[in-house]
Amino acid sequence: IRYSEDKGWHDAKITARQAVSMDPASSVLHYAQEIFEGLKAYHRPNGGAALFRPEANARRFNDSARRMAMPALPEELFLESIRALVRTEKDWIPDSEDGALYLRPFMFASEVFLGVKPSAEYLYMVIASSVGAYFKGGAPSVSLWVTREYTRAAPGGTGAAKCGGNYATSLIAQAEATRNGCDQVVFLDAVERRWVEELGGMNIFFVFDDGTLVTPPLTGTILPGITRDSLLTLARDQGLTVREEPYSIEQWRADAESGRLTEAFACGTAAVVTPIGSVKSAEGSFSIGGQSAGPLTQRLRANLVDIQRGQAPDPHGWVEKIQ
Ligand code: PMP
Repeated sequence: IRYSEDKGWHDAKITARQAVSMDPASSVLHYAQEIFEGLKAYHRPNGGAALFRPEANARRFNDSARRMAMPALPEELFLESIRALVRTEKDWIPDSEDGALYLRPFMFASEVFLGVKPSAEYLYMVIASSVGAYFKGGAPSVSLWVTREYTRAAPGGTGAAKCGGNYATSLIAQAEATRNGCDQVVFLDAVERRWVEELGGMNIFFVFDDGTLVTPPLTGTILPGITRDSLLTLARDQGLTVREEPYSIEQWRADAESGRLTEAFACGTAAVVTPIGSVKSAEGSFSIGGQSAGPLTQRLRANLVDIQRGQAPDPHGWVEKIQ
């Protein structure tokens, strides 16, 4: 779908994937006005497909657009673009336990000029691609590297927006994690460099021996994950105490070593819920629980996955069926 200031949104179509030709002065190539979303369509046991909370992605897309001085895409247009593509592609949704059709809506500035100002033209597209398990072998525990050198987002910055630039800045930290033998990077806040924020592409939860859960609050520097929000709701449904509050890396180490912290997991659309087995930083390493998924992590994961795949009741009306 195209946008121009004079015509608004127009020219919606579904085509086979093809190359996009761009002028070298297209403004996204210089000033990075680009945002995206990620969601999945699941195979239904009785045929057809199901989307999980697509309205939440539509809302977050427009929150990102506002932050990046881009025009809003009417929610109904976002939703219809997703539904139409799922209807076209639904025979390609794998019906394996971890399979899904991954949908990647994105929008970028396409006006041709070199001055620094918001573009007057945009292109919105959705890519559909069938996917299997994010981590091979299901959900093994992952090891994290705490980066001290790099931060992902500062107050007043774009941390709460899903813009490409946030990911560009996290690549060097992810490379640092890989070099240090870890699977994923975990970021600390930019001001005090001690509060745990999130991973490169996942939010984080901590589980304590009294059965409570803690996750960092949405203060504008982390992405408001839809999986995070869903798990907070499911945990409260299960009668668990959940707190959205800052948690420091020093406290994490102390609690892991004393046994007060029993589990930790990362969550997001791609990998759903992934246990964290160990944490490494320049100061040393510590491990968490038994290095495999703890009981509460497993329970929350199963609860969410069963709702997404139509194998459990959907008390919050999160699942939208597509025939
Ligand atoms: N944080 C970041 C930085 C992410 O890229 C993602 C993936 N979108 C998440 C958290 C998790 O968000 P969601 O649960 O909506 O996929």
